[in-house]
Amino acid sequence: MAHPSDSPEIQDQDAKQALEKLKKTFESFSRPIDLILFAYPAEDNPFTQAIRQVIRAFRQITDKIAFREFSLDHELARKYNVAYSPTLVVAPERYQIHWIGAPMGEEGRTFLEMLMLVGRGDSGLSQQSRTVIARIAEPRDVKVFVSPSCPYCPQEAVNALRAAVEAPDRIRLEIIDIQCQPEIADEYEAHSVPQAFANDVQIGLGAQSEEVFCASLLKLEPQTIFIPESDAELVETDVVIVGGGPAGLTAGIYTVRSGLKTAVIEREALGGQVATTPVVENYPGFTQVGGKTLVDILVTHALEYVQIFQGEEVVDITPGEPIVVQTSRRKFKTRTVILATGASHRQLGAPGEKRLAGRGVSYCATCDGPLFRGRRTIVVGGGDSAVTEALFLQNMGVEVTIVHRRDRLRAQAHLVKNLEDAGIPVIWDSEVEEILGRDRVTAVRLVNRKSGEKQELAVDGVFVSIGYVPTVGLAEKIGVALGEDGYIARDARHRTTVAGIYSAGDVEGGYKQIVTAAGQGAEAAMSVFEDLVNPYWKREG
Ligand code: NAP
Repeated sequence: MAHPSDSPEIQDQDAKQALEKLKKTFESFSRPIDLILFAYPAEDNPFTQAIRQVIRAFRQITDKIAFREFSLDHELARKYNVAYSPTLVVAPERYQIHWIGAPMGEEGRTFLEMLMLVGRGDSGLSQQSRTVIARIAEPRDVKVFVSPSCPYCPQEAVNALRAAVEAPDRIRLEIIDIQCQPEIADEYEAHSVPQAFANDVQIGLGAQSEEVFCASLLKLEPQTIFIPESDAELVETDVVIVGGGPAGLTAGIYTVRSGLKTAVIEREALGGQVATTPVVENYPGFTQVGGKTLVDILVTHALEYVQIFQGEEVVDITPGEPIVVQTSRRKFKTRTVILATGASHRQLGAPGEKRLAGRGVSYCATCDGPLFRGRRTIVVGGGDSAVTEALFLQNMGVEVTIVHRRDRLRAQAHLVKNLEDAGIPVIWDSEVEEILGRDRVTAVRLVNRKSGEKQELAVDGVFVSIGYVPTVGLAEKIGVALGEDGYIARDARHRTTVAGIYSAGDVEGGYKQIVTAAGQGAEAAMSVFEDLVNPYWKREG
């Protein structure tokens, strides 16, 4: 039976309410946001047209956006140091923010967030981050490379925008769409997004938590962890769920519906691996759905119930009663924790892989595919991910060959047929021995496992798609036992070996499907509810 909120009337009503809310937010801004577009006037550029369209749409709902357009050879372009068409200069009387490209796809979220930050004139940074930014004495020239199909990109771009709004005198920001200006990405050897540079030094590869971004900006080198000050805000909950993929979000829906106060904490993009899966064809109810679309539906549903702390990293968990969960921003005191930390990309371990990561070596075809249009690439692997990504890349106009270590693919028959129909070549029985290139990938050396024969293949990109390893760092830190396979060991009710700590999803191993992860999330949540009513760790025998 359809849920009442599925009806077009109710959806229409929701949209109207959202629009009214947006209008009110714009009305609350004390002064207009000055947007200046620089572009070649006669140019029939889809990016320029997209910017005009987006701004026109906003100007239909608010008079708080002032818009002017000039040719790139206008003297104002020189004044603001604008060299690329199109460039949007944002509130130049107050800030130093340039958007090179257009806010399409995922970047629409960043654009809206930017208007909110600039309109309010408040960075919204956490206290921890403000303290770090205040320590930056010298100017920072920040560049963040993004692409419209990258779900991780808005997080990194918004980190940089917040910093630019917090310290407008010292932080100059350019958000650069790599589809629009691939040559700037080439110049910086930035072949993976998001990627952030400050004063021409790489400070971030991938989405960082806000605090880690700010610390990297201060130190002018990528930081991996941020240790918060001890006076962090305290939140008390019944359940803390670590991880915002299908398992964690489903668990959150179930625990809140059971009456348990719950927080979901996710350091990166919500949705986990699904967010970067080009197409999903085996989630019941959807014949075919984009991974990111499925995530948006899931997140919208979860937000009806559970509070999600996104962009925040759990740095420590201390078991006990209560369990204390320390994040990069605050402290939670909770009765239970569900570890739904998922899995991260397995690396080849081949020489050159680490050094050339983000410079032609990629783990996300959805994010980085646009950079390789018309270029030669290989996808390494023979599972569902490798085949799905190869099909996606070919669709994007990327020249792609699969390199697989055996003589048959592990992927589902249906996907293998699509691969054959698409005519994507496969190099069988071969492993990548080395990835070659000085500043960027130029070739791979392959070795045939049967004949021992070696060959060098000239390529611009290597997409590594050889499965995942469970993210068990936190579990290990708190003494949760792992199985021989390296996944979290748990009983049939998703209880780990540490009292009050549960697990769900890919971090437990098994089939690693979206539907099984969601199912495990629901099971773990129901187990938590039953145990909180009647705690197993207090029962005798
Ligand atoms: P996977 O199924 O574990 O496959 C990994 C592939 O990489 C295998 O072909 C494996 O070779 C190869 N490999 C592993 N280590 C390697 C190494 N060091 N060097 C070279 N090759 C190596 O991983 P996945 O494709 O990422 O999928 C993960 C899970 O997600 C699976 O359960 C999959 O079914 C699911 N998934 C489903 C869909 C879908 O339903 N559309 C899409 C994506 C993922 P061997 O074959 O020789 O072992």
